[in-house]
Amino acid sequence: LTAQTLKRLKLTKKDQDKEYVGFATLPSQVHRKTVKKGFTFTLMVAGETGLGKSTLINSLFLTDLYRDRKVPNAEERISQTVDIIKHTIGIEEKGIKLRLSIIDTPGFGDAVNNTASWKHVEDYIDQQFEQYFRDESGLNRKNIQDNRVHCLLYFISPFGHGLRPIDVECMKALHVKVNIIPLLAKADSLTQAEVHSKKLKMRDEIKQFGINIYQFPECDSDEDEDFQRQEQILKDSIPFAVIGSNIQVDSKGRRFRGRSYPWGVVEVENPVHSDFLMLRNMLVRTHMQDLKDVTREIHYENYRAQCIQSMTRMMVQERKRSNQSATDFLLLFFQLRKMQEVLERIQEQMQQSQRGTC
Ligand code: GDP
Repeated sequence: LTAQTLKRLKLTKKDQDKEYVGFATLPSQVHRKTVKKGFTFTLMVAGETGLGKSTLINSLFLTDLYRDRKVPNAEERISQTVDIIKHTIGIEEKGIKLRLSIIDTPGFGDAVNNTASWKHVEDYIDQQFEQYFRDESGLNRKNIQDNRVHCLLYFISPFGHGLRPIDVECMKALHVKVNIIPLLAKADSLTQAEVHSKKLKMRDEIKQFGINIYQFPECDSDEDEDFQRQEQILKDSIPFAVIGSNIQVDSKGRRFRGRSYPWGVVEVENPVHSDFLMLRNMLVRTHMQDLKDVTREIHYENYRAQCIQSMTRMMVQERKRSNQSATDFLLLFFQLRKMQEVLERIQEQMQQSQRGTC
């Protein structure tokens, strides 16, 4: 093997001298293949208008996705229905390509009557599953575009006392379809103690109302202590208290995304000020693949099983119906035969009686 091939296969000269089959290179083969293909991730945001969704998305991915946005006025919002808007951006980092789709739900919770606010969101998630199911059972399985929603960032208002009825209803309607990550929006409007108590209350309510938000995977016992501690911190930080900003602030010789107030400056990426960084790391660096796995293995499998069940039920009913019509046909056939026999007998009798009279 040439020096270059050895390097590519991550082998040393010593390895080559040993008896070496070579399956240790499997991870790098997989790595090369997946990097070539690129990655996709679909993130949905929901929560009432003004909670800072667009600002947070821009801050998370350092983009400006909402340049052409038109915010409806109060009158327009009275009977507003929820729109579904998809933004897709391609991001490349160190040669790794990510096609990121953001699904926005403007109008969510804005109307006077919000009874079925989440219905459009639910329908959208189902449509993506349905499309994937069709593609998977179709001819061109190799080139399926995966548009399934991998994660829903659900924004909760910092101004209420815990969850509002619409939050409970919505999360309960969607938790079987998507990985929900609840966020405590605009955390800079709360004191540290308020953030702490609101988080505790919301976690209690999530449990009390039986809402199944995204569960961070359990750590294996052989995982190092630092990793286990980080995972525990993540679990204890739900709902993540977040702050967003589209503005770069200059302060003490540094320039950063932040919010400037008469009494001081809030730094979006400062872990002391909010959980923003924790959320971004979790979403992008540590749990993106797990969110995709859970979507595929649990939410999509649920959908698929339900689909197959209802299709089987329909087929059984159809078969029953066709069996029924076959039985009906046979009955009719035998009745006709019987009637024919009776007629023949009557005819015979008539002929005999005619012959007798002649
Ligand atoms: P959206 O309607 O949920 O997308 O909300 P926007 O992102 O448009 O934000 C609505 C308003 O809240 C804007 O004036 C933002 O500047 C402001 N805002 C956004 N994020 C934050 C935040 O974290 N803290 C505070 N205090 N204001 C925010």
